[in-house]
Amino acid sequence: MIPQHHYVSCTGCGTRVHAYDLTTFSCPNRDCMPNVNHVLQKKHVITPQLWQRSKLEDSPNPFIRYRHRLLAYHRTLNGRQTDIDYLEKIARLDGALQAIDGTGFVETPLTVEKELALKLGFDPMQKLFVKDETHNVAGSHKARHLFGILLNLSNDCLSRPFAIASCGNAALAAAVVSKAAGAHLEVYIPTDAEESVVERLKALGATLHICERREGELGDPCYLRSLDAVKNGAIPFTCQGPDNGLTIEGGSTLAYEIFDRWHEGNHSCHHMFVQVGGGALASSSAQALADAMRYDPLPVLPRFHTVQTRGAFPLARAYDRIVQVIDSRLRNLPFPEFRPFEDDMTFEARAALHDADAIAQRLVMADCIRAAWDSTAVQSVIRYASANKNAFMWPWESAPHSVAHGILDDETYDWYAIICTMLRTGGIPLVADEAHLEQAHALAHQHTAIRPSATGSAGLAGVMLMKEAHAIAEYENVSVYFTGIER
Ligand SMILES: [Zn+2]
Repeated sequence: MIPQHHYVSCTGCGTRVHAYDLTTFSCPNRDCMPNVNHVLQKKHVITPQLWQRSKLEDSPNPFIRYRHRLLAYHRTLNGRQTDIDYLEKIARLDGALQAIDGTGFVETPLTVEKELALKLGFDPMQKLFVKDETHNVAGSHKARHLFGILLNLSNDCLSRPFAIASCGNAALAAAVVSKAAGAHLEVYIPTDAEESVVERLKALGATLHICERREGELGDPCYLRSLDAVKNGAIPFTCQGPDNGLTIEGGSTLAYEIFDRWHEGNHSCHHMFVQVGGGALASSSAQALADAMRYDPLPVLPRFHTVQTRGAFPLARAYDRIVQVIDSRLRNLPFPEFRPFEDDMTFEARAALHDADAIAQRLVMADCIRAAWDSTAVQSVIRYASANKNAFMWPWESAPHSVAHGILDDETYDWYAIICTMLRTGGIPLVADEAHLEQAHALAHQHTAIRPSATGSAGLAGVMLMKEAHAIAEYENVSVYFTGIER
């Protein structure tokens, strides 16, 4: 039985969805309250006992080791199935993944990269942790998100088509995972999708839909067409939280693995850097960090930093606006008036806020907000932002370009949870220019044995920016994700 206290609720409008309901993936109020930030989130699934039980498991498969923390597992038990049934299901799917892609799910390495750290000017005692996610299923973390969704689906759902908008790692991961489950995938891709990815998707049996931008349409056309498919009955098989809140669960296993290694080695980490496109990786990590601090606190709460490119930084823009409102609340100044969907600054002025000099200043403000997190001033702004999404997050106006093309999403779909975690931990958004992104990519290849793509190493560009701004002290340890193998 699912305990009565398990439920799923919308972080924006508070609507509760029953934890037994296997066919609701997004908040039912999305269309009627478009200004609210709707994302479904599982509630009260993890308890101290279940957390501890996961720590006793020694399976290398994260979906087995952390199963007691997953709503998917509790749903399986509720469907009159047993622990053995769940384990058999994972074994069957994992066998299929190995046959299709050469690997199933196993814990990925967390390495301490000494040579790279020294190259960046770190002290010899300082640690640079790198979570190497390039050899996970389909070569990136995306498969974790999608496998988490798959485990939450009932058998009836498997007969419906799965839909995703992507032309990169997410689409490849979706194709591998859905093939393993015997489900049919529809992929919505842009006109300029990479030929090699298209070929691989076809080989995996996915149906491709090429989406052109329609006149006067704001937002990604592939994303909009995939929403149409979902309206027509497809399962949102996506890494975007507002469309499928269950995508966060599988992604959290990645950070659970990191925290377990830190506990085991008695390590502390002071700065976590996460590259952000659509925001699922950061949102999952933020969720896992909140879980860890509740049930098994890390010795130091790391500052949670995000990294975007100068091509598009809707998350940093939203963060700046929220900080501006908090600042006026803290000083008892009038509430700043924002026009929804409209930036009050030029691109150049906004980009200048992310120069090396600005980083130190930002951290001072971040410390201030972290200290005042529980105050009415801060909490009222947080709630205001959740209920007035369009004043903070809207699609980036121009078509973005960057060497890190996998994080050019014109909207950060999971922005709200990520910004709350940045504010709560004293982290800041970093916006990397092309030179730093290229240098980070080159350094990763020269000084580690890992082979990430430029998107996959983008978090390192954020570390470099912080280091140049003298914002990482000599005794502080740092972690980044390398995810997305170079193809
Ligand atoms: Zn809602």
